Amino acid sequence: DSRKYTGIVEDCCCDYETVDSVNGAVLHPLLQELVTTPFFRYFKVKLWCDCPFWPDDGMCKLRDCSVCECPENEFPEPFKKLMQNQNGLPSDDLKCQEGNPQGAVDRTLDSKAFRGWVEVDNPWTQDDETDNSEMTYVNLQLNPERYTGYTGPSARRIWDAIYSENCPKYTSGEICQEKRVLYKLISGMHSSISIHIASDYLLDETKNLWGDNLELMYDRVLRYPDRVRNLYFTFLFVLRAVTKATNYLEQAEYNTGNLEEDLKAQSLMRQLLYNPKLQTACPLPFDEAKLWQGQSGPELKQEIQKHFRNISALMDCVGCEKCRLWGKLQVLGLGTALKILFSVDGKNHPNQLLQLQRNEVIALMNLLNRLSESVKLVHEIGPSVEKTMEGF
Ligand code: FAD
Repeated sequence: DSRKYTGIVEDCCCDYETVDSVNGAVLHPLLQELVTTPFFRYFKVKLWCDCPFWPDDGMCKLRDCSVCECPENEFPEPFKKLMQNQNGLPSDDLKCQEGNPQGAVDRTLDSKAFRGWVEVDNPWTQDDETDNSEMTYVNLQLNPERYTGYTGPSARRIWDAIYSENCPKYTSGEICQEKRVLYKLISGMHSSISIHIASDYLLDETKNLWGDNLELMYDRVLRYPDRVRNLYFTFLFVLRAVTKATNYLEQAEYNTGNLEEDLKAQSLMRQLLYNPKLQTACPLPFDEAKLWQGQSGPELKQEIQKHFRNISALMDCVGCEKCRLWGKLQVLGLGTALKILFSVDGKNHPNQLLQLQRNEVIALMNLLNRLSESVKLVHEIGPSVEKTMEGF
């Protein structure tokens, strides 16, 4: 076997081969379909760039261009009405104003699209959904995570602040497992973002030609085995959060007013949660019970929570709107996974019930889908890219 990554994913409970096979056969196809359903494709987000850290920065003052060629037939009837009510305009009256079209977000819906979910604070994130001012709905299907041209000091400063101030890279043996987990989650998400930039890259601007940039994929991720390992780790961590919340997610209402599509979302969720192949091959993707066991567990948890909230706040400083959208979604998805795994302790506090916001579930499942796509890409094209780049 010529596999480069073998054995158990570090700190997890499943091996690389199993992850690839379960992902390819079960998770990836289900998630790809799930995220196209109306419930999962509309994400509520505050896109206003409201950076608390570098107030003087020119990058972060203007709201980027709003590309709004919203195809009318994309939306269910009730959504169209809500949209016209809120804006006072039919959607195609909204015009693009300024900025970098690759980096801009295609706005869509109003805030009343979904009902019946609670609004409770997430201790791991700068809470977004309960702060209703300036919130918009975005159709994620119209705004794929891809190359946007956002680069240079502004982008670099954010990653630097994340890594140096909030989750320093560990050297083996030096740091406790909990801090290592935080670092690996961020690094895994970063790998996934880079894989998406490289697999949906603007190859020729004049022809508007998009495709793979394999050199970039190699330079940013594949040549660093740690970054690949962290991607697999993050995937398993988020998958564990989803499976741990099975009862909640099975009973949740996926209601958008489109009965057929909503039933489909529910059915896909059940197929994923109760999948026999997943349950047999990788029943416990990550074992959260091993963490916070030391004497300083509670303080450590608070410290790491504070760091994660800072990372969440840093997303307001991302100077490209589409990157901000996906940055916020993925950090909220990670924050939701952290909340499910570490903030609900049914064993010691049986009355502590899991409560999630609708937006948290949307972020969680879309994050899992992003990670699943990245894992699939790394598995399928990684070896040949490495071969080419390393000149074998
Ligand atoms: P960067 O990716 O900026 O990395 C900076 C440094 O971090 C590297 O030099 C390395 O030391 C370290 N590093 C890199 N990867 C890892 C890893 N996996 N684990 C640990 N350390 C690592 N650009 C887009 O085109 N589209 C997007 O959707 C997009 N979304 C973004 C979302 C966020 C939240 C941020 C902060 C940036 C986003 N960007 C996006 C910008 C993109 O991530 C890069 O910053 C940019 O392309 C410049 O890349 P770079 O080569 O300087 O390396």
